[in-house]
Amino acid sequence: MTSTGPLADKDRIFTNVYGFQSPDLKAAKQRGDWDDTAKLMQLGQDPIIDIIKESGLRGRGGAGFPTGMKWGFMPKEPKPGKPNFLVVNADESEPGSCKDREIIRHDPHKLIEGSLIAGFAMRARAGYIYIRGEFVRETEALRKAVADAYSAGLLGKNVAGSGYDFDLFVHRGAGAYICGEETAMLESLEGKKGFPRLKPPFPAGAGLYGCPTTVNNVESIAVVPTILRRGAEWFKSFGRENNSGTKLFQLSGHINTPCVVEESMSISFRELIELHGGGVRGGWDNLLAVIPGGSSVPLVPAHEIIDAPMDFDGLKDLGSGLGTAAVTVMDKSTDIVRAIARISYFYKHESCGQCTPCREGTGWMWRTMERLREGDATVETIDKLLDVTKQVEGHTICALGDAAAWPIQGLIRHFRPELERRIAERAGRTMLEAAE
Ligand code: SF4
Repeated sequence: MTSTGPLADKDRIFTNVYGFQSPDLKAAKQRGDWDDTAKLMQLGQDPIIDIIKESGLRGRGGAGFPTGMKWGFMPKEPKPGKPNFLVVNADESEPGSCKDREIIRHDPHKLIEGSLIAGFAMRARAGYIYIRGEFVRETEALRKAVADAYSAGLLGKNVAGSGYDFDLFVHRGAGAYICGEETAMLESLEGKKGFPRLKPPFPAGAGLYGCPTTVNNVESIAVVPTILRRGAEWFKSFGRENNSGTKLFQLSGHINTPCVVEESMSISFRELIELHGGGVRGGWDNLLAVIPGGSSVPLVPAHEIIDAPMDFDGLKDLGSGLGTAAVTVMDKSTDIVRAIARISYFYKHESCGQCTPCREGTGWMWRTMERLREGDATVETIDKLLDVTKQVEGHTICALGDAAAWPIQGLIRHFRPELERRIAERAGRTMLEAAE
């Protein structure tokens, strides 16, 4: 029997996500972090990977790939001169996403302990936390926490008395969205321009400096020590099958109390918003649509999402995705075409320009969206735009092309009548003006 919420306080992993307590090492230890970490490591490297597999943890950075399976791709016996690396993705640049920064600001030791254990399980001698350039204060907080962990013998040689050596570095990016893509992040870490790499080879085969590397999201890594302490079964007791665990949801937009909150996976949208978001502004009848997983996933109209389970499979069934669980709520005051046009501008701006469908397509899609916003188009323009999104989707080096295409596809799927209304309205105005 699994729970789909609400989550009891005793089951929260992130007990300082609002910063009511100090983020420092002493307070973190009082909250249970670093509690006999060596004993956790004594479980052994493969058994730790097995527990994470068993827990059903899926990556919290957006793609939802099973974390334990990803760890299992790393070589068990690193070759001389080819060490294994862990890279933690703290780039958090997806519009709407704001959970990793809370972990870093208020609970950084969960991330540091998780990095050590994940690095140990994957036989990595070093980990790199790649943090978003704009996160100035977060970088300071993280650097301090890492320094404190070194001083306390929790990083470096013979960490926590385990006999294992592990170094952890904090690298601050320069603020490009594309560096959140894992291979662009590796390029950037190597000191190059953040251009995504063609895959294969995947990072587990040839990643940072050509060495086996796993890139994991901050939340995915920060939950690991608690899963090991409380057990895979405990973690699996939340959420529907294949959607296990607790999750940091980020609620924003037209709700009464925007917040970041840890909840059980698969909680219904209605319960999530009622319990933590203070309800929709103007009541449920005023809900127009929701972007449930960060700006790159297609929007879902009100009637479809209200009772939907907020998890990977539930939102996929609705033609959208859980993504980073950054939930943007839009009420009926929203100009939905303008909102999606703005998202199109973002992806146009952030395209790295390496591949033609993305470089040219994102600009063309944005300009067309701007015309549709004004109704300055024909009905055929909508079909042409949809066709172009299909030509961009799946035909680029990295997923930014998909991220630019999906919001527009969602708009056309659910709000085509609104697009046509604007076209007809403008055409009517033009005819009237001509007649006068
Ligand atoms: Fe760059 Fe866009 Fe191609 Fe990704 S899809 S590599 S962002 S041009």
